Amino acid sequence: MQRAAEAQFGHAELALLLKALAFAAAKHRDQRRKDAGASPYINHPIALADVLVNEGRVHEVTVLAAALLHDTLEDTETNPAEIEAGFGAAILRVVQEVSDDKSLDKAERKRLQIEHAAELSREAKLVKLADKICNLRDVAESPPANWSLERKREYYDWAKQVIDALRGVHRELEAVFDRAYANRPA
Ligand code: NDP
Ligand code: ZN
Repeated sequence: MQRAAEAQFGHAELALLLKALAFAAAKHRDQRRKDAGASPYINHPIALADVLVNEGRVHEVTVLAAALLHDTLEDTETNPAEIEAGFGAAILRVVQEVSDDKSLDKAERKRLQIEHAAELSREAKLVKLADKICNLRDVAESPPANWSLERKREYYDWAKQVIDALRGVHRELEAVFDRAYANRPA
């Protein structure tokens, strides 16, 4: 039997998702991830959407579009008004919820992610879960160049504190996170 959530994709939903993917690809076009091979940045938002659909069976367009756009405000010159005009206020709100305030120093941003996780909307929690799953996998499989073992472990433990603060939103994806965390570098 098909789940109700799986029956909702029509032209409008697919069109919005591909528009979000194309928008993110254009915004991140000159950026690379921090791994030694300098992967194209867009691989990361695609990985979030892949985890949400294929491991979490999340089929909400708002969540998937926000996942594709999740690093545009934080890491590119994107203006919130562009996201609102192209994708609407609901998607903009989720992207804003998962964006750090870059005017704060890094330690404060990390502390605030833990502090604010419980207050996020359900949609933002799902994006945050997928982001941390993907980043733990990246730290295990293709880590930022020059990260020490200690730094990798610190990253795992910080990510777990963020996710522990938002649990109760999606049992399957939380289990996916726990399996990723089980690969914490020893
Ligand atoms: P981060 O710890 O913030 O870097 C990780 C972030 O980079 C991820 O959250 C991810 O964010 C992005 N990213 C890009 N490529 C990769 C990849 N291949 N694998 C994993 N993540 C990737 O690093 P910062 O340089 O910002 O340092 C922040 C904190 O690190 C400091 O506050 C300090 O506490 C700590 N630190 C620890 C050191 C140590 O040796 N123990 C040394 C220096 C700092 P996204 O998905 O948003 O792109
Ligand atoms: Zn991210």
